[in-house]
Amino acid sequence: MSEFDYDLFVIGGGSGGVRAGRVAASMGHKVGIAEEYRYGGTCVIRGCVPKKLMVYASHFHESFEDAKGFGWQVGESKFDWSTLIANKDREIDRLEGLYRKGLSNAQADIFDTRAVLESNNEIRLIKYDRIVSAKRIMIAVGGTPSRLEEMPGSEFCIASDEVFHLEKQPKSIVIVGGGYIAVEFACIFAGLGTKTTLVYRGDKILRGFDNDLRESLREEMVKKGIQVILENVPECVSPAEPEKFDEALEVKLSDGRLIPADQVMLAVGRKPLTKQLGLERAGVQCKPTGHIVVDAYSKTTVDNIWAVGDVSDRVPLTPVAIHESMCFIETEYKNNPTIPDHDLIATAVFSQPEIGTVGLSEEQAIAMYDKLNVFVSKFRAMKHTLSGRDEKTLMKIIVCAKTDLVVGVHLLGEASGEMSQLLAIALKSGVTKKDFDRTMAVHPTAAEELVTMYQPTYQIAGGQRVG
Ligand code: NDP
Repeated sequence: MSEFDYDLFVIGGGSGGVRAGRVAASMGHKVGIAEEYRYGGTCVIRGCVPKKLMVYASHFHESFEDAKGFGWQVGESKFDWSTLIANKDREIDRLEGLYRKGLSNAQADIFDTRAVLESNNEIRLIKYDRIVSAKRIMIAVGGTPSRLEEMPGSEFCIASDEVFHLEKQPKSIVIVGGGYIAVEFACIFAGLGTKTTLVYRGDKILRGFDNDLRESLREEMVKKGIQVILENVPECVSPAEPEKFDEALEVKLSDGRLIPADQVMLAVGRKPLTKQLGLERAGVQCKPTGHIVVDAYSKTTVDNIWAVGDVSDRVPLTPVAIHESMCFIETEYKNNPTIPDHDLIATAVFSQPEIGTVGLSEEQAIAMYDKLNVFVSKFRAMKHTLSGRDEKTLMKIIVCAKTDLVVGVHLLGEASGEMSQLLAIALKSGVTKKDFDRTMAVHPTAAEELVTMYQPTYQIAGGQRVG
């Protein structure tokens, strides 16, 4: 008999926590898992999955428009928000069920409650007012949207948690932020017919991405009717004066402009959910940002407690949390010490057009390599020759001139997310530009452009363009 109730207790039923709990339990270890909201976590319940369903919904009006150029006469179309939300909710319920089923099939004990640490081996299950003990504990509680509490009127704003459950489609929305969530939801709302304004404090949206992608996406978003206001922040949000505006709210920007809107959505980053988790009682240390300090193996400052996913300050993406959990399983339960690999993670932004990217931006590559060859192609995708849509696809390859190693690929256009997944395999395998060149094109596709850019568009030496 073990001296503990559980071999592993997981706090947080999102992507990272459920994976660790399910796999450990399926290996015959005694596992308990607690989740205070819904199993599936941010990604499944109020993040990636419902977002992607809404992205699909928002593409249709362009498809109807584009169809005309191909001979279709599309009748009057009408979008119904409540149907989308209800269908989306049904799918999310189904997925949550699958997450629970996976855990229960593996014989894990599932608790629907908030759980906090009482010591380095004890967990209090709040709803049951019960303490259980565990040899190992994994913290996978994720994060929550930042809400600009210091801004007057922030209480009138929504964040990504609420956007999936709005009763009505807003006629107009102001979205604050220039990251993944802001850009994706600006495109979703604009696609669904909402008058959309994006307000971002910097001079280019999507900080950290390649500058050509950032600039080109902004141009495309503007073409789709999104008002992109840069170098501005909201100073306050307040109920709109009824005699001035029909909208419910008004946003005062730092340049003095007043923007009326039915909804104001804050997409200004996320913070870890580490408050009142009892971390100090267990001796788990956090960074000033609230993120849990972990070593290369995801172990916290306490020897028998680990943290994976967004609660640690690494790469806040679902597949990364899952990978960190699988490395924990290898290390702890398979006697195969495995450090999570955070290098060359491909990522997609489900903007319209979509971004897919892997490796270094030009700006990052300049900081690391003296000489670069840069290949850029900007073109109108074949479909738009008949649809008539004025939308450009961008493809950019960044190559270390000395080694011929491809160090970054950046795509803007249809299916860029899908392409970036495959490119990631190539870059992880150390692909060179010569390998691209000797690869036969798949015709007619947009992706063939990637293997037919034979001459550099320009070269960079010592940080300067030289040709
Ligand atoms: P991001 O970190 O991507 O973006 C936050 C944005 O808010 C940035 O533009 C930032 O500006 C801005 N911002 C931060 N603080 C303030 C402030 N006080 N006032 C005004 N603007 C501010 O976070 P998101 O919330 O968009 O997304 C959270 C994470 O979720 C992402 O980092 C990503 O890892 C993940 N995610 C991934 C998706 C995907 O894979 N497709 C989709 C959605 C989310 P600045 O850049 O100047 O700091």
